[in-house]
Amino acid sequence: MKNVSQVDIAPTIARALGIKMPGLDGEPIEEVESWDCQNVVLVIIDSFGYDLYRMLEPDLRFISELASHGILIGAEAVSNHTSPAIASILSGLLPEHHNIYDTKSAKISKIMSLPEIASSSGLRSAVIMEKNGAEVYEGLIDIIGGVPDSLSPSDFDREICRLSLDALAIEPRLMVSYFIGIDKTTHLGLGLDEIKDAAISIDHHVGEITGAVATGTMMILCGDHPIHAGRFKRRHGPYRVALILWKKQTSTRWSKSPVFCSHETE
Ligand SMILES: [Zn+2]
Repeated sequence: MKNVSQVDIAPTIARALGIKMPGLDGEPIEEVESWDCQNVVLVIIDSFGYDLYRMLEPDLRFISELASHGILIGAEAVSNHTSPAIASILSGLLPEHHNIYDTKSAKISKIMSLPEIASSSGLRSAVIMEKNGAEVYEGLIDIIGGVPDSLSPSDFDREICRLSLDALAIEPRLMVSYFIGIDKTTHLGLGLDEIKDAAISIDHHVGEITGAVATGTMMILCGDHPIHAGRFKRRHGPYRVALILWKKQTSTRWSKSPVFCSHETE
């Protein structure tokens, strides 16, 4: 497999959904071309570096199951900051071409990103992320779920999961969901046990989402950058994030059910 970068994610999704995104910096990932997927769910996990994933892999039963039945790639990270990296993931453009460096510049940017292009091509699309990031899509796409970052990291991620399950019930062709717990934990300077706890919570949320997606859906999980704060900050290259691609072939049965959001009592 040739080197894969975060800018290859948007062209891969565009090709799967049959929508056009001309003039991109990335190229579709060839290995999934024959998968013939009808829908795509993209899960962005903040600070999900490739090395971190490999270290936590034995503890992440749902994500590791997707990786072992799908494709796991250490993909080149295009930025060490969240907003430009997510903009690259969603636009297929390098930071110097999309010029998005924070949510403020994202709001005024004329660059069309994947959910917007999908929606304008008549495909129902959903974005479930931090409130300021989600507001960028106000009026542009069908389903928006904004979660305030004033919530605790674990509540934030649980809310992202709940809103993602709500969105999936409306059967979007494209859904983008964003989990923050690992990143928040590193910014708090906490240790490996706390990082692992945050990752295990996200793993359960991914398990729930995977159980709810329609057969024929491509699930793509990726990090925005390696850990960029705290004790485990990556200080030298290669800067790679975990990128996992998997297709739901039949109704997924987990050996153990994830029970984090949908079964909660209100
Ligand atoms: Zn980030």
